[in-house]
Amino acid sequence: MTRGLLTTAVGSYPKPDYLLKARNQVARGKLDNKDLQELEKRATAHWIKVQEDLGMDVLVDGEMYRGDMVTYFSENMEGFAISGLVRSYGNRYYRKPIAVAPVGRSRPVSVEWWQYAQSLTDKPVKGMLTGPYTMADWSFNEYYPSREAFIIDLARSVHEEALDLERAGAEYIQIDEPAVSTRPDEMELAARALGIVTKGLRAFTITHVCYGDFASVFDQLIRLPVDMLDLEMANSNYELLKLLKGNSSDKYLSMGVVDVHNHVIETVDHVKRGIRLGLEVFPPERLYIDPDCGLKTRTDEEAIAKLQVTVTAVRETKKELGIE
Ligand SMILES: [Zn+2]
Repeated sequence: MTRGLLTTAVGSYPKPDYLLKARNQVARGKLDNKDLQELEKRATAHWIKVQEDLGMDVLVDGEMYRGDMVTYFSENMEGFAISGLVRSYGNRYYRKPIAVAPVGRSRPVSVEWWQYAQSLTDKPVKGMLTGPYTMADWSFNEYYPSREAFIIDLARSVHEEALDLERAGAEYIQIDEPAVSTRPDEMELAARALGIVTKGLRAFTITHVCYGDFASVFDQLIRLPVDMLDLEMANSNYELLKLLKGNSSDKYLSMGVVDVHNHVIETVDHVKRGIRLGLEVFPPERLYIDPDCGLKTRTDEEAIAKLQVTVTAVRETKKELGIE
């Protein structure tokens, strides 16, 4: 029997209504942060239990304590101010960080949350960081002489945070770089920064990349200095697998098999077909299966249903192919 086809998730899950209400109350000064944190812990425990009950292999904390993935880190670092509301895409607004002084950490940012989530389960929980390129790309820079200087300085901080997660016991460290493939001319810089983050780490490293023109940056994408690439595949009908065929070197792939942008729940057979396509390119021991991206924009029921169909499809595929 070969081993493999572990199931995981990209990072975020929907926040329950009581948490959204509590966050608003904190913003209006009607609830203190300590009470909010208790609710964030309750929501985190809910999602750890959901993943355990489904039988997933590598868990995430669901990011209940984060608003935006960049603002969360910058708010907890030195050197950043936070802007007023800025429009990102569609009708979504967020507060954009501004680098106004040298950026850095005075203490670990995400370690306590990782420890809390890991204390709830015997399954490994991923340490989750936002990568330096995405941090810089989604911030204003009013301090550094160049984007490069900003990105490289951020990379040093993210590396320190990764080391702290590793020391705390994280076996998997994911560095999210959703923005990394949006500007092909900066791919070399993004890869160099990611190399600073992962240098010397013993933990298994992953980067999640989304919504870019993967084909135009493929040669650099496949050489990013991490053990595993986590890529959306369902959304693009598995087209990227054709590029990966014969070019995947020794990388692991975490393959998205359910679309996170629609309300439709895929059928088990549909997901199984996707997994089979992945197995034509990657051996099972180098192929993990997950949703395309974070599930935070779905409802609770939709997110759980999409995880359920993913796990069921993996379980049936393993049985059919004799994979442990
Ligand atoms: Zn994504």
